[in-house]
Amino acid sequence: MAEIRAKGIIIKQSDYGEGHRMLSIFTEEYGIIKAVSYGATKTRSKSAASSQFLCYADFDLYKANNRDIMTVNAIDTLDGFYPACEDIKKLSLAVYLCDITYSILGTNNPDARMLHILLNCIYALAYKDEPPEKIKAVYELKMMCVGGYMPELTACASCGKSDIFAFDILKGGMVCHDCGGKYLVKMDKTLYKALEYITAAEDKKMLAFNASDELLKRLNSLTEQYVSLQLDTRFQSLDYYKTMLEM
Ligand SMILES: [Zn+2]
Repeated sequence: MAEIRAKGIIIKQSDYGEGHRMLSIFTEEYGIIKAVSYGATKTRSKSAASSQFLCYADFDLYKANNRDIMTVNAIDTLDGFYPACEDIKKLSLAVYLCDITYSILGTNNPDARMLHILLNCIYALAYKDEPPEKIKAVYELKMMCVGGYMPELTACASCGKSDIFAFDILKGGMVCHDCGGKYLVKMDKTLYKALEYITAAEDKKMLAFNASDELLKRLNSLTEQYVSLQLDTRFQSLDYYKTMLEM
């Protein structure tokens, strides 16, 4: 039995039993952990307001030796990122970004860099005047890079030749005319430059570039297919986000 304190952000929540809530918390110290917040859905509970999606806080947790799931004792909220929670489009995008994170990292696997990239993007979504589509594409690509799926941009991802002409989503990068497969994305200078910038930029500066709506559209199409094909996952939260965009 142990009591621990961890700083983190709630990336998933679901109802659990009578009036309780199951949380997935991405913590700096322990990676993504699961914890139950007892009584969290009862309005008079102290932890109700804090046991919310995207709540960034210091968590007091209790871990029994024989259980993977912890118990939340107290939550000391640092930021609720409320503007991102109160806008249904932003909220649905945040759900998708958290789903990608979960899919790449799994549970109990600390990764401070991934956590900070997530926090930067959620912060930008809540407080900065950045287009959500830009945050989405940058997050998709940056997380893939950090998670071990860095696309090959300077030579053919298949044979290594330098005569590259298009991006092959399945082969994981630029390809030559001989190696291009079924999942090709046409490339031009602006799209290539955006890919180059995001993959190479320092995490803090990953959003610091200008992009037209047209470029963001093409960039998003590439990055979301890249995530889905490389991780071999169809994210329902992405479909949901897209239906929100059409409203
Ligand atoms: Zn090739």
